[in-house]
Amino acid sequence: MLTLNKGMLFIRCSRYEYLVKKGSMSNYSFHLKDEDKTGILEALFEKTDFPVPQERLAEELSNKISEPNEKYVSDLLEQLLEIEVMLECPNAQQIEKPVCIMTDLEQVSVIQDIFEKGGYSAQLLVLDDANHNEQFISLNHNEAASEKLEPFEYVILFKNHFSPGTFYQANKLCLEQNKKLIIAYLDGSEGIIIPLLNFAQVGCYNDFEILRESSFYNLLDYQVMKERLLQQDKVQPTSHPLHFHMLVNQTALLLNQYMQFSSLNYYAYSMDFERMVNTKTRLLKFPKCPSCQSDKNLVHAFI
Ligand SMILES: [Zn+2]
Repeated sequence: MLTLNKGMLFIRCSRYEYLVKKGSMSNYSFHLKDEDKTGILEALFEKTDFPVPQERLAEELSNKISEPNEKYVSDLLEQLLEIEVMLECPNAQQIEKPVCIMTDLEQVSVIQDIFEKGGYSAQLLVLDDANHNEQFISLNHNEAASEKLEPFEYVILFKNHFSPGTFYQANKLCLEQNKKLIIAYLDGSEGIIIPLLNFAQVGCYNDFEILRESSFYNLLDYQVMKERLLQQDKVQPTSHPLHFHMLVNQTALLLNQYMQFSSLNYYAYSMDFERMVNTKTRLLKFPKCPSCQSDKNLVHAFI
């Protein structure tokens, strides 16, 4: 089944010419011209009910244009599909994506809602060390957790607070299985998204943490907080629901980009909700990271 791309405007300039625009600033802006003056564009944009199967559309268009020509119509449809003026209607099987999301029980419904609306079919696993049912995952049980992550290409970890202990465990598991890991969390009023899609290129979570810590001016206070959180993975009751929504939405959008284009994998993102500033940080691989590099004898002071 084919449909017109609902994200685009098709503006009639004449019977034989239409302007295609996505938005005022978008690069996606061009004219479609019916050089042979067959009336095919008018028939397509103004006299067709969508969605419609491709063969029926080709037949209908052939009947409506001045000089019926099957090849002309089918070539045009192929071109319009290529430039995404027309799209194949997604069906349930096509949007099946190998994504697994790990999070705390309190966040499940929010994440599920956002991902379902975005058309993702992701498997949600609840972080829980006590429960060993199918929908739960305990990162403390390495083997069982590895088995649960095995079928997935992407693993996303959502936390609504800074949870270094959980991040180390997820990092280790995904390194062992070479999974594409995205860690997204709230740290007070800041949302952080770390896409670790290729450990060999961008390093692992430990590399990011060292990089982030190197920029802190209040390092000592931070270390006290981190030590505390490592001992007790405490949920901060102050995190704002809207901030978490933003974090999940942004992560879902990024995931969509990563699945379509492989070249955008090099940055971590920060959304600072106190100052309302969004920034990105180039991910750097440290040459002697004990987690993802060969020298296992070197240990970062806080790993
Ligand atoms: Zn590393």
